[in-house]
Amino acid sequence: MIKLKPSVQKLQAYYVNDLPYKVKLDANEGNNYLLEDKLIFDDFKPNFYPDSDSKILREKMSIYYGCKAENILVGNGSSELINMVINAYCEKNDKVMSFVPSFSMYQTYCDLCGADYVGIKAEYDFTQNIDKLINTANKIKPKIVILCNPNNPTGYVTPKKEIVKLLNNVKNSIIILDEAYADFSEITVIDLIKKYENLIVMRTLSKAFGLAGLRVGAMIANENLVEYIWKVKIPYNINVLSQYAANKALDNIDKVNEHIQEVKKLRYELCNNLKKLGFTIFPTGSNFIFIEQTVDNLYEKLVDCGVLIRKFVFNEKVFYRITVGTKEENEILLKEIYKIMQETN
Ligand SMILES: *Cc1c(COP(=O)(O)O)cnc(C)c1O
Repeated sequence: MIKLKPSVQKLQAYYVNDLPYKVKLDANEGNNYLLEDKLIFDDFKPNFYPDSDSKILREKMSIYYGCKAENILVGNGSSELINMVINAYCEKNDKVMSFVPSFSMYQTYCDLCGADYVGIKAEYDFTQNIDKLINTANKIKPKIVILCNPNNPTGYVTPKKEIVKLLNNVKNSIIILDEAYADFSEITVIDLIKKYENLIVMRTLSKAFGLAGLRVGAMIANENLVEYIWKVKIPYNINVLSQYAANKALDNIDKVNEHIQEVKKLRYELCNNLKKLGFTIFPTGSNFIFIEQTVDNLYEKLVDCGVLIRKFVFNEKVFYRITVGTKEENEILLKEIYKIMQETN
């Protein structure tokens, strides 16, 4: 076989496991509340290329995100955009910094272009010390600093004044704020894109909008930076069906806001119920919660009864990330955990 370039050879292909399930709480997807009525495609022309610039979609997004359409570049999920920005700035051995644990795909996108991923360890309770990030950035001068806020998988929320401190102290790197879960946290820095020309905010319709299957994300930055990065955007990257469905979804922002309130309520209830079962729960600003293992092999036992959650190992300890499901899904989860605990005691 002809060899791939060295930085890519060592990568593991990313296959998504498809375990059978009755309740799926492993990928923070949420439920299909926005497009549950049938989509009627009245003016649908698959013979034509889609609107390459996603003009209508960007207009509609600009209302929700509180910026101008010119501040937005749309991608095939924010995944495409994160990869695009890393690839546009980094050559082999350039540095990209972030906290660890954080979203594991940052490392993968760095490997694709040969950039070095430098992870700053979070504290033992998974809080993140912004001064450590700033000091290291000033030492190693990375091309890009990525801050996932709220952080996946820990749920930790960096306060806005700490992000401002980062922006004020690291001027010569691109600062990416990955706000995939910001809809659930009340903190966004979209309002700062005018002031900081090196700031890029990533948002997505995959989580709070419950539209992960459409693959639609947004990169938000000042106009000059958006125009600059447009050079590396692949033409027609958002297909006709996705643009159409995303436009329809964005006509229902009231429903989105209602849904977010509902998820927060369910999150609060789920946390309380898990606390009652004896779990340690880390504070979260997301549509998922992060807990420490207190029941041996909980992940495996839940898979056996069709409940999917995510398992992580950090500092040789086991943790779980559980998506806040619907009321019914959360009840099934709690019932199964309770049963497992009865059996093990
Ligand atoms: C889900 C997620 C994304 C990517 O979502 P897309 O579906 O590609 O828009 C990006 N960052 C984090 C931290 C995520 O959890």
